Amino acid sequence: MKIFYTIYSMLFNKCSRCHQGDVFTHKNPYDLKNMFSMHKSCDHCHLVYQKEPGFFYGAMYVSYALSSGWFTIWYVFQNLFLNLDTLGFVIGFCASIVVMIPLSIRWSRLIWLNFFYSYKKELAQKTESNAV
Ligand SMILES: [Zn+2]
Repeated sequence: MKIFYTIYSMLFNKCSRCHQGDVFTHKNPYDLKNMFSMHKSCDHCHLVYQKEPGFFYGAMYVSYALSSGWFTIWYVFQNLFLNLDTLGFVIGFCASIVVMIPLSIRWSRLIWLNFFYSYKKELAQKTESNAV
């Protein structure tokens, strides 16, 4: 199922088309110096990640959706378990969003890539020499 391929790609920083090459140059999303560093193309299937200038601007919509989902989770969790006042709720939410910025950037870009390039099993099994 496509959602599982997307989740795999998202969690393990893998190319959406072959699940072999890394998308970001560094594994640690909290390495703030290299947070945005991406490979230009997949080293396994040679997919060019940024297919046109500004391609990843669309990932902002995904980031917005992720933040909205996080807000919903935070709201439900807060109401069920924490019962904070409004100021505590806002401060807690803002602090959690700041902590999650590096993950949100990566996940939104990887999800955006998965919108355009689906997983192809035959590309994953090809060796480096005969990849397209
Ligand atoms: Zn690839």
